[in-house]
Amino acid sequence: MRIVLIGAPGSGKGTQAKKLVSHYGVPQISTGDLLRAAVAAETPLGLQAKAAMDAGQLVSDQIVLDMIEERMAEPDTKKGFILDGFPRNIPQAQALDAMLDKLGRPLEAAILIDVDFDLLIQRIAGRRTCSSCGQMYNTYTSPPKMDGLCDVCGGRLHHRADDNEDTITNRLRVYEAQTAPLIDYYKAQGKQYSVDGSGDIEQIFQQLCDIIDSLPGNSSKKSAEQAARLEQTIQEMMARTETKSTPATQATPVANKETRTMTAKKKKAASKKAAARKSVTKKKTVKKTAAKKKVVKKKAAAKKAATKKKAAVKKKAAVKKKAAAKKKAVKKTAAKKKVAKKKAAVKKKAAVKKKAAVKKKVAAKKKAVKKKAAAKKKAASKKKAPAKKKAVSKKKAVKKKTTTRKKR
Ligand code: AMP
Repeated sequence: MRIVLIGAPGSGKGTQAKKLVSHYGVPQISTGDLLRAAVAAETPLGLQAKAAMDAGQLVSDQIVLDMIEERMAEPDTKKGFILDGFPRNIPQAQALDAMLDKLGRPLEAAILIDVDFDLLIQRIAGRRTCSSCGQMYNTYTSPPKMDGLCDVCGGRLHHRADDNEDTITNRLRVYEAQTAPLIDYYKAQGKQYSVDGSGDIEQIFQQLCDIIDSLPGNSSKKSAEQAARLEQTIQEMMARTETKSTPATQATPVANKETRTMTAKKKKAASKKAAARKSVTKKKTVKKTAAKKKVVKKKAAAKKAATKKKAAVKKKAAVKKKAAAKKKAVKKTAAKKKVAKKKAAVKKKAAVKKKAAVKKKVAAKKKAVKKKAAAKKKAASKKKAPAKKKAVSKKKAVKKKTTTRKKR
């Protein structure tokens, strides 16, 4: 299976390519992924490509073609490939044809994933990719269960640098001008197919599988089930041949021996062939089952890791919440204590003040009583004074009288 996926940015080429890889077991070759890896590794090629990528422009054909040639030389491409994001213009498509012709492995189909521009903009703006396992999400249409974290492996989701409003418009313009003409290029070769890319991911995938399975000479489309069905048909045909040949054997005994030998020989060869086919099918099935088991195991492990991570995050949040509540309670108690202290101080002050006032009042009362007593005394002594004076003068007169009498 040797195919090219054509589609505007955000049409879902990457998502579908990944599904096709696990279904057909052929590698996905994405020039966008290869370029991003080169940029991240800061290789000379990556540094050269970065400016064009950031601006939403195409990287030079030479860089991309060198990259593709190198990748095509790897052994895993012998069983086929899914090209995603390459070719992006007519010169690249011509160079690819020449390269594949040289390798004797021509392209079988160029499948367009057709999506409306409005939907594309929404898809690109919401696109998020797991930085660990590459799983793709869309914040609008297929968001992760936990914001910013991958459902599969718990890795961090990132937003591609070139998935911003300005660059998106530029990339769509570049697609219209340079990549869309590839549709006519492959139509002229009779290799162009298209699927409606606006529906459900599984429906689109099914459409792609139908096209791929219908390609002439596509051996990888034959599933184990199909091979088993083929095997059964062969067995049935052989059984029918055997029954038909029996009456002929009885009718002409001379020719019979020869026919019988021929039939036996044929039967032996056919059963040998069938056994060989059966063994290949069995091997394929075992291999496929093992691969499937491996994927299931990997998925389960990733799910387990994600659950574990989720639980850890939840626990951490609960501990944080508890600590915050404790801190708040301590703060509240301290504030309460402060208020109580303040209240006690105010109360004490008021009591002291009250005591002082009572003391003052008592002192004032005492003073007033004292003053009143003094005044009373004074008044009494004032009243006594004339009588005293009278008594004194009377005493004086008596004394004088006595003195006078004595003199006589
Ligand atoms: P993609 O991930 O396919 O959308 O590619 C991201 C960016 O990589 C594009 O906007 C281009 O700048 C660059 N790029 C990817 N593939 C090609 C290509 N075949 N030819 C030129 N530039 C490419």
